[in-house]
Amino acid sequence: MSCVFCSNAEIAQRAIARSDLAWAVPTNIPIVPGHTLILPTRCVATFEELTTNEREVVFSLFSRIKKALAVAVGATGFNIAWNEGAVAGQSVPHFHLHVVPRYEGDTGITEYEPRTFLYRPGSREATPEAELRDMATRIAQALG
Ligand SMILES: [Zn+2]
Repeated sequence: MSCVFCSNAEIAQRAIARSDLAWAVPTNIPIVPGHTLILPTRCVATFEELTTNEREVVFSLFSRIKKALAVAVGATGFNIAWNEGAVAGQSVPHFHLHVVPRYEGDTGITEYEPRTFLYRPGSREATPEAELRDMATRIAQALG
């Protein structure tokens, strides 16, 4: 259990919602504000390692987060993806579904390059923790 999602207290404290099986958190390098990760609580790298129950809970939380992002950041569309394997750009070996809220005029994904499209164009700087926590609070409030 040494992956950053399981061991970094700052990330854990930023969680929007958490259950025994899954949780959600704003990523530290959002493509656009509100870019959120949905993760199983158990530290496994690939979709196949998830139990049927974990898959159900992860995707159920995903549906709730979409609705919350529509309220919290005015999302009118979404990019949803996960990277699996280092060659595909998976930087943390703990399954995580990216939910990228989109809205007219945003500065999000403008071109598709499979290994990098979930990275913010031109920058790998983390967003300040206070800003991420504020976003987590906004989404959690919209989540109800
Ligand atoms: Zn982990």
